[in-house]
Amino acid sequence: MRSIIEQGHTFEEWLTAGQIAADVKQVGQQIRRDYEDKEPLFVIVLNGAFVFAADLIRALDGLRCEQTFIRVSSYWGMSSTGQLEFIVPLQQVVENRDVIIVEDIVDTGLTIHQLKAHLRGLGASSVRVATMLFKSNKLEYEDAKPDYVGHEVTDEFVIGYGLDFDGFHRNLDAIYKVKK
Ligand code: 5GP
Repeated sequence: MRSIIEQGHTFEEWLTAGQIAADVKQVGQQIRRDYEDKEPLFVIVLNGAFVFAADLIRALDGLRCEQTFIRVSSYWGMSSTGQLEFIVPLQQVVENRDVIIVEDIVDTGLTIHQLKAHLRGLGASSVRVATMLFKSNKLEYEDAKPDYVGHEVTDEFVIGYGLDFDGFHRNLDAIYKVKK
């Protein structure tokens, strides 16, 4: 089993690149089925979601869609600050658009809860959420429950496939879980 040591923590490989590819394919099939007669706008949450988003949109080859980016910050190190800050604001008009927020991981749901309110306030006709990972037993905001989930994860800190530890390890092609 592959493992990584960072700042005294050991991370062990949990989802291989092959398993991730299968999850992305399945999420792509669901989105394609639900949006075949629409033109969704993907709002990709930087920085973590860029890897998942790059694979997801290519799993949707042939679907007429657009992508834009937003950057928010609510996490430092391994614990949440509970505050959402807009570091890169939305650059695209979302009024009357079917929006799909793309996240790397939904944890408490605070980020999605606030982003959904923000996008609805800007007049989006619908807002759904696609996430690579979902910590379902940590969800605190019911309206943040994601519509499309690659894989459920229990309450451990994970890195890789876009997910970082203090800025590093986003480039791992697999997802690693911290060893307790
Ligand atoms: P939420 O607002 O749902 O509590 O947290 C969402 C954000 O927290 C994610 O976009 C991600 O940046 C960060 N986060 C939550 N859990 C993890 C984790 O296990 N690993 C990493 N690297 N980031 C996480």
